[in-house]
Amino acid sequence: MSETRRIQVLDPRLANQIAAGEVVERPASVVKELVENAIDAGSQRIEVELESGGARLIRVRDDGSGIQEDDLPLALSRHATSKIATLEHLEEVLSLGFRGEALASISSVSRLELISNIDEDPRSGWRVVAEGREMAPRVSPAPHPRGTSVTVRDLFFNTPARRKFLRTEKTEFGHIEEAFRRQALSRFDIGWVLRHNQKTLHQLRPGNSLVERERRLQALLGKAFLDNALHLDLEVGGLRLWGWVGLPTHSRAQADHQYFFVNGRVVRDRLVAHAIRQAYRDVLFHGRHPVFVLYLEVDPTLVDVNVHPTKHEVRFRDGRMVHDFLFSSLYRALGDARAGGHSDTESHETGSGTPEMGVAERPVEWQQQPMSLPGHADAGDWAGGGSGGESGGGAREGVTPNRVRAFMDGYRALHPEHEETLLTPRQDAPGAGGDAAATALAERRVDAGADTLPEADATRAPPLGYAIAQLHGIYILSETERGMILVDMHAAHERIVYERMKTQVHDGAIEAQPLLVPVSLAASAAEVETAENEREAFARLGVELDVAGPETLLVRQLPALLGQADVEPLICGMLADLERYGRSDRLEAHINDLLSTMACHGSVRANRRLTLTEMNALLRDMERTERSGQCNHGRPTWCEMSMKALDRLFMRGQ
Ligand code: ADP
Ligand code: MG
Repeated sequence: MSETRRIQVLDPRLANQIAAGEVVERPASVVKELVENAIDAGSQRIEVELESGGARLIRVRDDGSGIQEDDLPLALSRHATSKIATLEHLEEVLSLGFRGEALASISSVSRLELISNIDEDPRSGWRVVAEGREMAPRVSPAPHPRGTSVTVRDLFFNTPARRKFLRTEKTEFGHIEEAFRRQALSRFDIGWVLRHNQKTLHQLRPGNSLVERERRLQALLGKAFLDNALHLDLEVGGLRLWGWVGLPTHSRAQADHQYFFVNGRVVRDRLVAHAIRQAYRDVLFHGRHPVFVLYLEVDPTLVDVNVHPTKHEVRFRDGRMVHDFLFSSLYRALGDARAGGHSDTESHETGSGTPEMGVAERPVEWQQQPMSLPGHADAGDWAGGGSGGESGGGAREGVTPNRVRAFMDGYRALHPEHEETLLTPRQDAPGAGGDAAATALAERRVDAGADTLPEADATRAPPLGYAIAQLHGIYILSETERGMILVDMHAAHERIVYERMKTQVHDGAIEAQPLLVPVSLAASAAEVETAENEREAFARLGVELDVAGPETLLVRQLPALLGQADVEPLICGMLADLERYGRSDRLEAHINDLLSTMACHGSVRANRRLTLTEMNALLRDMERTERSGQCNHGRPTWCEMSMKALDRLFMRGQ
């Protein structure tokens, strides 16, 4: 006997089992593939039924086109598809499937049965199974309503190694539910049912109106998601982005509840993730993750979907443009979530179902403690952080997306010649990449904004009301038309200073003010060296720093905005930042971090007494400032209690 192994062709089942390694990882992958087929068949209703987390049974039933009797044997064989015929088709593929592998793969590692009928007559229909090593298909008559049912029993029964990797029923079901959630979010026009062990867990009616979509969103992601999300819908130059983004104060510890669809296909893409992260960068608390359900619509020839077997990744022809579009759209939307914004629209409180604005989601340090007495008034009475959380859909639609749209439209009307450049970063603008686009937008807002952004109505009380008192040197109490609000004065001021400095620095025009008496600081030799090397960086930020000795620095000038700053910690913080970021060539990318450090040191500290005039000035500034619902670290800056909530608390009128 020779030691040389002979080459032989794999039998079909083995070949399919090997292919299954790529696409069939667990029950959830089976559900995903079968549901994709049902969607591709033009179904209006799709039912998913499971037993034992899908390990024992997965059945997907649809009312789609069905499969012709003659084609049934092919449906279960490898490289057989009705969705593309040429390479050119692949360029513009709109269907979810096209590789022609799923049914063959699944069938090779389970007991799969497919029944289908293309006829309206429910007495007709055919069943197909593929058995044995050759996987020869057997077709027999089986009545079925128009559409297709695929039943997959005993997944991995013949591949013990894979079966061992199955987790508990609960875990596997969790993965399936997640797959189901994604698919149900991808097609609002389809009705869906999910059943597990004879229990119906989701029953989602089809519907494409905003109300119907939001109802589905709430069913799949919970009420807190919807209550703390902004709806947006933007279209520029053939790109459309719509959907919902969570307010920064409604972040989560895990990166779940993040859904991004490109032309109806759910994707996890690094470019997309980066653009979103950047847009949230200076409003999100460190280490937290934003929530979003977003839909990007682009010309299908501008994306390549055939880059990954499970098609979770895509490649954009012009990634840069997509990135900047996403970033600037989201940056604007979040920027417009400003303080007091929600009082533009009537709120409609919903009694006991008052939104809780994700209180449970937030790290415990700044949970908003409800002012509830035992036995009455529920925990959700406080709204805040500029969330508009007290009201339902009305506030969300009324304020932010409209403002974004108004800005875009207004800008376009004023400057039609800039249509092209609206999303193109300016070459000379500071800040790397997408920052430049935002800067360009922010700058243009100065021209266009005044006409398009609604200002507070002079005849009505301002949204954040009038200050009444300062509590314990930390909070401002203000009476508003709707009730009362509390403001964390340091957090709020910090945001205002930060946003102003950003604008000034990015305009290249930070306003500096010489100190009457220069302040001398003791510094380490390393700090003195950094100060010398970074003279230019300091100057750009409005700080003039001289070396007065081997271990002494002299501060001669500070940004006017930082009037009250405590000089020593401010300069030390900046030196530490500069040392951390290295030479000033990397400074651009970190300029906002530096500004944030400066804003923090330059803002009113706790325990400083403010006059009523000062407090009111702060409230007015908040109303004008973007992102003023959160401080630079993502903490909420204010919260509100309405009269209704107060009345409930004291059981008035009950
Ligand atoms: P692909 O989806 O990549 O084409 P599949 O193995 O998933 O490959 O399916 C093979 C073919 O079987 C499909 O191209 C389609 O013609 C047919 N098919 C599968 N499921 C359904 C269904 N639910 N309704 C109608 N046709 C289906
Ligand atoms: Mg398929």
